[in-house]
Amino acid sequence: MSTDARFDGPGPDDVFAVALAEGRILLQHCRACGATRHPPALVCVACGSADLGWIEPSGRGTVYSTTTVRERDGAYNVAIIELAEGARLMSRVDGIAPEAVAIGLPVTARIVVEPQPHLVFQPVGEWS
Ligand SMILES: [Zn+2]
Repeated sequence: MSTDARFDGPGPDDVFAVALAEGRILLQHCRACGATRHPPALVCVACGSADLGWIEPSGRGTVYSTTTVRERDGAYNVAIIELAEGARLMSRVDGIAPEAVAIGLPVTARIVVEPQPHLVFQPVGEWS
């Protein structure tokens, strides 16, 4: 698989999804201005450049915002995580009660398959 995000290659969403299925997290990175972002796009939203590559982030981040969603089956958490590399992504925090998720909480990413591979986060120190 190529990690080159040229327009004639696989689309950036596909690159991200294929890597995730392989157990790797990829974060889109702008070679022109250094911005990282998620979800992947064809051009950098910060500077408009199409010169985009990929980095493998640390998986560390902090909770940027959090909401508890209550349903008949129980409550779950929806959070925006700001990765250490700067990108923000919508996910959820597992491993603690949904209402205990707080802004600024240090979290780390893992990949779950349910049934599509995607990223969830857990508080740092809960597992390793
Ligand atoms: Zn840029």
